[in-house]
Amino acid sequence: MLKIGYQEHQLVFSNLLCDCGMKHAEPDLDVYIGSGIIPRVATYLGKRDLGKNVLLVTDNVVYPIAGKQVQQVLTDAGYQVELCLLEREGELIPDETALGEILLTMTNETEFLLAVGSGSLTDLTRYVAHVAGKPFAVVGTAPSMDGYTSVVAPLTFGNLKLNKPATYPKVLVCDLKIMAKAPYKMLLAGFGDVMGKYIAKADWILGSIVNQEPICPTCIELITRAVDGCIRNIDGIKQQTVEGVKGLIEGLILAGVTILIIGNTRPVASNEHGMAHYWEMMKLLAGEEPASHGLAVGVGTIYALKFYEFFFQQDFTKQSLDKAKASSLSKEEREAIILEKYGAKIGRAIIKGNPDDFISWEEQQRRFQAIVNNHELIKERLAFLPSADQMIEIYQKFGAPWKVQDLDISQELLYDGLAYAKDYRSRYTVFKSANELGILEELVQQTMDFFKGI
Ligand SMILES: [Zn+2]
Ligand SMILES: [Zn+2]
Repeated sequence: MLKIGYQEHQLVFSNLLCDCGMKHAEPDLDVYIGSGIIPRVATYLGKRDLGKNVLLVTDNVVYPIAGKQVQQVLTDAGYQVELCLLEREGELIPDETALGEILLTMTNETEFLLAVGSGSLTDLTRYVAHVAGKPFAVVGTAPSMDGYTSVVAPLTFGNLKLNKPATYPKVLVCDLKIMAKAPYKMLLAGFGDVMGKYIAKADWILGSIVNQEPICPTCIELITRAVDGCIRNIDGIKQQTVEGVKGLIEGLILAGVTILIIGNTRPVASNEHGMAHYWEMMKLLAGEEPASHGLAVGVGTIYALKFYEFFFQQDFTKQSLDKAKASSLSKEEREAIILEKYGAKIGRAIIKGNPDDFISWEEQQRRFQAIVNNHELIKERLAFLPSADQMIEIYQKFGAPWKVQDLDISQELLYDGLAYAKDYRSRYTVFKSANELGILEELVQQTMDFFKGI
């Protein structure tokens, strides 16, 4: 049985590796969560023997809040601290300039890197650490995303977004006193990212029923605890109490750990992430500023929940194979739509990256039957999903954006996100189920109409 507890401030997992048959890895990572624990950073790092020469990477916003204190703590403990302070007037972009600054501040003596910050700072540092073949550690300053333990760094090169392979930290320290003071919007983003796990979990279970996709009960348990912990702490998160923020960052970390266990993001990201990515890519292509990742995932989650409701309301005994056949696309037709909806460059990458996503009519018929025959089981196993209305109420209580208008996403982008985000990855989702039944357009329209009415 999976056990999660604390020893002092260290988050300790036992029995992470289950016998589900999937390939598992034990995360080699120390996580500390506590209030006012920055003075202990030197002790935590010392336990890992990372060396005494550290390159501390931070920016001008985080430096006065946490970076300076970390620098002092390490210097007092006898560390040689080289400081890479990324100074920007606006937001720090994780781009080639920032990477260059970090690389040029690194010396021959640098033994490990330490990021003090959240998203972009940790992504830049994890990439440089990976390329330089050095270990790294993180002092996290905001509960804004589940990527602290990620092995992929989303970076920007010119106007292009790249996901580069990278490495996860050996030590992650989350000081709740600092996290509780993070801008409220960052907490909302973290919350949205955790709520997305409802859909990720549902789609994964759906995939296991329709396609016998392998599923890991430990990962399911971890994301369930992540979501429950956040829901339990809603008031605390809203008031930015230490306890509330603890529930949130724990959720984000538990979710992140699943990626380390099975080596991919199946447990934490499905169509809600696909929609968020779609909106982001289309905004960038149009030269507009996209919403932050977590906020977009949070909004995508609401629409996916509503879509699931309409899916469950279907009379499965009345599904018709003829209708499914009529809406089924040839390989060429499907590719033409992807190129149109994603643009030529991204579209081609998607087609190349997901070669098994086009399915034959025989396979579609098999899936059609699997969905129709198992619809009671599907409903039963996915009964944990909250209703969209329940979630909207929670978001509203939070003051969180919940509809596309809140993120400046047009109705057209909403439609395309609902109908085509499923093609972004080969991952199985309820949107693919609807497509295989020949009812995708219908359900997308129903979902659109529902939100138009409120
Ligand atoms: Zn995410
Ligand atoms: Zn497992």
